[in-house]
Amino acid sequence: MNYRRLGNSGLKLSELSFGSWVTYGAQLGDDTARECMAAAHDAGVNFFDNAEVYAKGKSEIIMGNVLKTLGWRRESYVVSTKFFWGLNDGPNEKNTLNRKYLMQAIDASLARLQLDHVDLVFCHRPDPDTPIEETVWAMHDMIRTGKAHYWGTSEWSAAEIMAAWQIAERHHLAKPVMEQPQYNLFHRERVEKEYARLYRDIGLGTTIWSPLASGLLSGKYNNGIPTDSRAALKGYEWLAESILDPAKLKQVRLLAPLAADLGCTMAQLALAWCLKNPNVSSVITGASRSSQVIENMKALDVVPKLGADLMSKIDAIVGAPA
Ligand code: NDP
Repeated sequence: MNYRRLGNSGLKLSELSFGSWVTYGAQLGDDTARECMAAAHDAGVNFFDNAEVYAKGKSEIIMGNVLKTLGWRRESYVVSTKFFWGLNDGPNEKNTLNRKYLMQAIDASLARLQLDHVDLVFCHRPDPDTPIEETVWAMHDMIRTGKAHYWGTSEWSAAEIMAAWQIAERHHLAKPVMEQPQYNLFHRERVEKEYARLYRDIGLGTTIWSPLASGLLSGKYNNGIPTDSRAALKGYEWLAESILDPAKLKQVRLLAPLAADLGCTMAQLALAWCLKNPNVSSVITGASRSSQVIENMKALDVVPKLGADLMSKIDAIVGAPA
């Protein structure tokens, strides 16, 4: 495993990390979650991603149980959570980044995770109803009180991130260190274009999500929806619709021979491609079984094989942002 600095911060994250969205709580209980995290840890993963809203808090409970059972030294791993959507319906309990919600949310997450701090905390989406200054102060206080070590955003625009950073700079507060955007062969614009200045100007780090576009880039949907897959889950019909997009499926089929020539799987090719981007601090992988974790971790061996010619061939298939 290689470790990359999280943007300009001194924190080092494994290039490949592991997250619990969809899987923990909906597909996996404690036992399979433990097998997956142990397999990731064996491969050198030191960052485990979570969020309050995943399986309505259950994902944090499962990860907390697993961390306790596995008994790793707390200093040796990085764990995250994220806030925005909330778990309750009140006006100050959902779709907000106001101070009241954030200060309560972190305590509740820590209780579910059975931890006294998380390392990373993300504002899971921008909140147009709360002044960014109020959110920045609340995130600063979360860090000052030792409940989190670094804070960042997820799917904020470049302008919103810059506004938060400048407020923090002006008031000598903890600055946003990282963003968590979607990034994969089908979704490139924001990471490659919109944030380009932020890497240079404020040293933004990125922990990117859905590197396989929810599994689509593994090729598993080339012949329909397998019954044991994410797209077959009840409540994920919206995902099945986007996964069965004929244009994307066509591109996945065109990528298959490139993976075959490299002697790797489609999933490994798609993950390795994300790692080629130096502005990606960590690629958060997801898996519903430990065999996928083991396969995905071997993407590290594919990265050196992705030369300029091959990267151009990939661009020709999926289209690079202008
Ligand atoms: P991926 O796009 O990599 O999808 C992971 C899913 O793909 C797995 O659960 C599995 O689903 C399938 N899969 C994984 N490996 C293989 C393989 N080798 N062969 C075949 N199928 C495979 O990532 P996620 O969408 O899960 O996102 C990763 C993490 O990013 C999340 O866990 C979460 O922590 C974070 N995230 C953050 C978001 C944000 O808004 N900040 C939003 C979404 C995710 P299956 O059960 O079908 O086999």
